[in-house]
Amino acid sequence: MQRDTIFDLIGVGFGPSNLSLAVRLAEEAATSRLAHCFIERQPEFGWHRGMLLDDCRMQISFLKDLVTQRDPKSRFTFINYLFERGRLNDFVNLKSFYPTRVEFHDYLRWVADAFEERLHYGETVTSSEPVHSPGSSKDIGALRVSSCDREGREWQRVTRALSVGIGGAAQVPEAFAALGSHNVIHSSTYLTSIDRVVGKATDAPRKRVAVIGGGQSAAEVFVDMSRRFPHVDASLVIRSGALKPADDTPFVNEIFSPAYTDVVYGQSKDGRRSLIERFRDTNYAVVDRPLIEQIYEMLYLQNVSDDLRHRLLANTGIEAAVRATNGQIELTLRDNLTGLARAERFDALVLATGYRRDTHIALLDGLAPHLGDALVKGDVERDYRLATPEHFKPRIYLQGCCEDSHGLSDTLLSVLALRSDEIVASLAEHAARDRPASRNSAQQKNGMSDGRMAIAL
Ligand SMILES: Cc1cc2nc3c(=O)[nH]c(=O)nc-3n(C[C@H](O)[C@H](O)[C@H](O)COP(=O)(O)OP(=O)(O)OC[C@H]3O[C@@H](n4cnc5c(N)ncnc54)[C@H](O)[C@@H]3O)c2cc1C
Repeated sequence: MQRDTIFDLIGVGFGPSNLSLAVRLAEEAATSRLAHCFIERQPEFGWHRGMLLDDCRMQISFLKDLVTQRDPKSRFTFINYLFERGRLNDFVNLKSFYPTRVEFHDYLRWVADAFEERLHYGETVTSSEPVHSPGSSKDIGALRVSSCDREGREWQRVTRALSVGIGGAAQVPEAFAALGSHNVIHSSTYLTSIDRVVGKATDAPRKRVAVIGGGQSAAEVFVDMSRRFPHVDASLVIRSGALKPADDTPFVNEIFSPAYTDVVYGQSKDGRRSLIERFRDTNYAVVDRPLIEQIYEMLYLQNVSDDLRHRLLANTGIEAAVRATNGQIELTLRDNLTGLARAERFDALVLATGYRRDTHIALLDGLAPHLGDALVKGDVERDYRLATPEHFKPRIYLQGCCEDSHGLSDTLLSVLALRSDEIVASLAEHAARDRPASRNSAQQKNGMSDGRMAIAL
């Protein structure tokens, strides 16, 4: 226990965003010396494990890995990962820019393993509180970050900057919120929950499952159910008239270039919103074209064999969801074209209804009285720093929740290599200004210290 450690940076969450930051910090002696660590609630590295389906592919080129766009010569490129795993030539023979998610997950874990000593797995950050500058009742000089480990113990660390990279939280529409989680799951926990919910084919009676949503995750779950669960009849329920393809044509794809962040950021609030809306069909409620074709063929072949187990219910709105006395869920479905409503019962629901991006607000709630309305308004500088008042010195970098200000690439992998560069440049500039001469010398030498204090409960 070192009560006097003050970190230059604590990263909350260790998904691709903060992983990319860890890589960038390690690149230069000066930045690797900054005292920093990362706190991740999972017990080990995991990238959307609940949707790590065997054959699903990346929706982005492997060249947009954690580092290549900034430094193709880095040891942490996807190409070097392939080389070290002995698969470079075999991968070349695939003639694909799009590895499976399983392989990309292995790449990310391979990178994460290099940063183990800066990582605290199995701790959930629960809150952050202001720490006043010495001798000042007004100025806030640092943040006290509290976390809770898997044994229920609480820990605290003090830092001059935070990088919040906590990703999204399952979005559960109002209509389903009261149903509980017994046989209603969100796609984010699909792989870890589905066996429990539908049982194994050998011992389970036939089950009717509704998959709700018109995006990539919904389509992937629908196909997986039809393949792996012969005792399941799956219905894909979508509001729109058809599954729509994600626009990944080259001119449109330019919106995911790092340079486009400046274009979006440079607009007025309305201008930003209108750009995001214009290109929404690159990322939201859309499906990769090959997957659409696969689903179409699957439904066609059912037709040929006159075995209509799986259905695509297009133009269908869900008006109500209630639990029936036998534990099934009754959905009131309205056909948006005819206006007619009907009730259907299902044994389970998979909600592929997307993610909320506002959980950082609760995490930073303890600072709210000092932040003006920057937090609620999403007032973020170009370098991803929350715009804080003059008396509030700590820097809070937000990753993955700045779509409104920085554009559609913010929640994706597209700009990670450059975003981490921008954040580290900002961090290094401020750290040099902030750091008092009397700084703990061991900490300065290697930038590492556990630096946590146990809280007596
Ligand atoms: C199934 C799926 C597939 C995707 N595929 C692609 C793709 O092919 N290409 C692409 O560009 N984007 C893709 N995305 C988008 C995705 O957002 C990014 O790939 C990426 O995960 C963003 O990284 P992140 O670190 O910001 O967030 P996340 O990957 O969500 O990581 C956040 C981390 O923070 C941790 N955490 C959360 N709260 C706390 C807390 N309070 N304390 C401590 N730790 C916490 C979480 O456990 C998690 O590990 C996909 C998303 C999903 C759901």
